[in-house]
Formats: sequence, C-alpha cells, structure tokens
Amino acid sequence: MARIPLVMGNWKLNGSKAFCDSLISELKTALVDVKGCNVAIAPPVMYLAQAENLLTDSKIALGAQNVDVNVQGAFTGDISPVMLKEFGAKYIIIGHSERRTYHKESNEFIAKKFQLLKDAGLTPVLCIGETEAENEAGKTEEVCARQIDAVINTLGVEAFNNAVIAYEPIWAIGTGKSATPAQAQAVHAFIRQHIAKKSSTVAEQVIIQYGGSVNDANAAELFTQPDIDGALVGGASLKAAAFATIVKAA
Ligand code: PEP
Repeated sequence: MARIPLVMGNWKLNGSKAFCDSLISELKTALVDVKGCNVAIAPPVMYLAQAENLLTDSKIALGAQNVDVNVQGAFTGDISPVMLKEFGAKYIIIGHSERRTYHKESNEFIAKKFQLLKDAGLTPVLCIGETEAENEAGKTEEVCARQIDAVINTLGVEAFNNAVIAYEPIWAIGTGKSATPAQAQAVHAFIRQHIAKKSSTVAEQVIIQYGGSVNDANAAELFTQPDIDGALVGGASLKAAAFATIVKAA
C-alpha cells in the first residue's frame, strides 16, 4: 500500500511574530509545487492564529506541539484539542521526549491525549523512542513496544488508523547524530510488525516518521527506506531552504 509521507516541522520554543511571518512566507514560496508529500508545521501555540491566516490557500497544514488532557473547565493554563481544532491545527504532537522528560508525562497520560485528539477528529503524532542508555542495553524494541501498547491497550489498535507515529531516538534529537538509515529502518519495521500482530491493515497504513537530527543532507537517504514515511524535524524546520529540501526529498 502506498503511504503518503508526512514531513512536519516542530518549531519547539522558538519564534516571534516577525519570524512566523517571514518563515511561513518563505515556505509557501519554496513549497508551492509540493506533490506526493503531506507537509505541516507546528509553531508555538501562541502563533497558531497568525499561522492559520498566513497558511490560507497553502498546501502546508498546521500542527501543534502539545495538547492537554481536558476539554473544558477549571484547568488553569491548559489548551484543549477543541481549541487547537478551532485554530486550524490538524496534526498534534504528543509524547515528545522533551515533554516526557521535563514534564514527567507518562505513557498512560499520553494515551489519554491520544484519545481526546481522536475524539476531536485530530491526528495524533505520537512520539516514541529510547534513550542512549536503553539503546546501548538493547532495549529499543522493548521501549517502543511499551509506548505503543499504552495506546493499544486503552483504545485498541484501530486508534492507529489515521494516526502518525514518530520514532525519535532520544540520543538523536538535537544532537546532530542521526540514526543511520539502516538503524532507523530496523526500528520502523519492528514498529510496523508490532502493530501488525493486532491488525495488518492498520499497520500497513500507519505513517511512521523518523525524527532526530534530520537535515537537508541526510533526509534523502533516510527516505529511501521502505518503512520510513517522512520525518519530524526540529532544528532544520526553522530554516526555510533546509526544510523545503527535506520535504522535496520525501
Ligand atoms: C524533535 O525534537 O522532534 C527533533 C527531531 O529535533 P531535531 O530535528 O532538532 O533533532
């Protein structure tokens, strides 16, 4: 089955109104003819309204970097999936390792976010991946399976219909040390096989992005791998030319 890759930029805690204006206008020009690849950007939530306006009539979709586990009520500081949807966000990153680490988000908490996003008709981009120590101890598959099973066990494997998984080895994020195409492919194949144990149909269609120091020089080779369906891009998504090159390689 032909899967359409997704290349998504995660701006993290970067940007300003002026930066948002200039980066989005450069991206719109650079990606005006993009074909065969879905593209999204996830600016900080403060800039969603601005980005939504700027992206009118563009092929670039809007995303967000996080969502909270409540829809409405006395939850100071929280942002609900319904609010993200109202501002045009489609792809929502959950379970990023920075949130797992700095905000102590558990697999169960992340599964709850997954459920609320599905309920709202949004697309979860579930980040999974192992630390360097887990990698060296040969625990990569065990860690990834546990992170996926937290969703399957509560929502069923069908939850991964129209959802995205981003395999992001933590040791590769922001380090300039990407996984090799072969290393990434082996884990992506494992993830797909793991889901296929429950449903081969769901496994065949689920988009599995790679993330971790993807740049304009290494993207093309990563994308030759059969189970790598695009990328979640941090640092290189802040530069229009680099991000556009990655999109065109997908
Ligand atoms: C990320 O944080 O999702 C990421 C992949 O970052 P970078 O591309 O900078 O490694």
